[in-house]
Amino acid sequence: MEILPIHLTYDFNGQEIVLHPSVIRDAENVWLVDCGYEGSLPMIREEFLKHGLDFEELDGVIISHDDIDHLGGLKEIKDAYPSIKIYASEIEAPYVAGSLKSLRLQQAEDLFPCLPEEHRSWATAFQEQLRSVKRVLVDQTLGYDGIFANGIRIINTPGHTPGHISIYLPDLKTLIACDAIVIEHGELGIANRQFCLDLQEAENSVRKIAALDIDVLVCYHGGIETGDIKNKLHRSIQKN
Ligand SMILES: [Zn+2]
Repeated sequence: MEILPIHLTYDFNGQEIVLHPSVIRDAENVWLVDCGYEGSLPMIREEFLKHGLDFEELDGVIISHDDIDHLGGLKEIKDAYPSIKIYASEIEAPYVAGSLKSLRLQQAEDLFPCLPEEHRSWATAFQEQLRSVKRVLVDQTLGYDGIFANGIRIINTPGHTPGHISIYLPDLKTLIACDAIVIEHGELGIANRQFCLDLQEAENSVRKIAALDIDVLVCYHGGIETGDIKNKLHRSIQKN
């Protein structure tokens, strides 16, 4: 089993954003964890090719949580490759599918009246962007802290969203943290604290991760961190 890191780079009005989905490959299967914004499919295909992988080999996409930067590109993948299976936690699945209203959108709507006038046009555009996310049915929901496949464990890490999951590969001592942890300015921390749906839960999730045996941490925002992860995680909790 191996993890192949991939990078998706976007330019939003001159601001560069880099996302780090992961590819998990074992002897029989290839899975992708999260898939970027809408329009990412050509970029993901290219990243696969860099690892000598054909996109046709992809068996499934695991969505860590409902957020525009994690599943914006899902519909185009499912439309082009209908046999690819979509996975998400039981809690996130209805948000991914759009049968429950996006919590990120609800939050943006709730915050709107408190915003100063100069931020309102940006906030309105952001809400429109969230409403435009194309929804996809989840083929299989993942049980709480369940086993995904041989050597791949689901670690429920709520906080950023209620059903957020991380993916743990104990044999590789690697955790794909998705948005449970972010790397900012070389430090580990909680992703987007001010937009975290439940900060206390997010901190508990970091403690839960710190209890795992991890040598390599993959963060969707920030990339790969190695070396004394436990200590770095404890520092990040104390700092906040
Ligand atoms: Zn994110």
